[in-house]
Amino acid sequence: MGHRIIFATGNEGKMREIRLILADLGLPILSMKEAGAEPEIVEDGTTFGENAEIKARAVWNLTGDIVLADDSGLEVDYIGGEPGIYSARYLGEDTPYEVKNRSIIERLKEARGQERGARFVCSIAAMLPDGRVLHTEAVMEGLIAVEPAGNGGFGYDPILYLPQFGKTSAEITMEQKNEISHRGKALRAMKEALEGVLK
Ligand code: IMP
Repeated sequence: MGHRIIFATGNEGKMREIRLILADLGLPILSMKEAGAEPEIVEDGTTFGENAEIKARAVWNLTGDIVLADDSGLEVDYIGGEPGIYSARYLGEDTPYEVKNRSIIERLKEARGQERGARFVCSIAAMLPDGRVLHTEAVMEGLIAVEPAGNGGFGYDPILYLPQFGKTSAEITMEQKNEISHRGKALRAMKEALEGVLK
């Protein structure tokens, strides 16, 4: 069923990671651009899962292929789960992450120990050619660091401290991150779910 997979993202870094993890499904994997399907998408869902499905469905409406999309973000316990689904938009889409990261650390200046709990969440939705929808979701748990650290990764990586490494998510290697990350885990779960339905 279905002869190709389209991933609803414009992000080349994500495409590389996705191609690597989904390679042995044996299907061609295209970006929206490569598939010539780039609809206007309004991400007005209230959860990561809803937003992932909104993106996947918008592209599926144009192509009818197997269409995957992800939505991810940082949830910080002490501030009621913010920035959550608004992670990319927090303090403005174009605001540098040094500023966003400083702001979160500042808002947690009274938080101690486990009160600093936080996690990256990644939700993936897949639309199948027959209109069925699959969902997977995974997290990478950590603590908000007292100071940003590391130059690897992107976004909020410098402020998510991973106790098992004694380092932030920006200080571990890409291989280490792929193994334990929210996106890596959700993608591998989606690969298994797809293997189940594509048989
Ligand atoms: P989207 O899923 O591409 O819409 O954006 C999610 C936003 O969440 C990103 O812009 C980052 O701010 C944040 N985010 C998601 N995953 C990560 C990660 O692995 N490291 C750092 N920030 C992340």
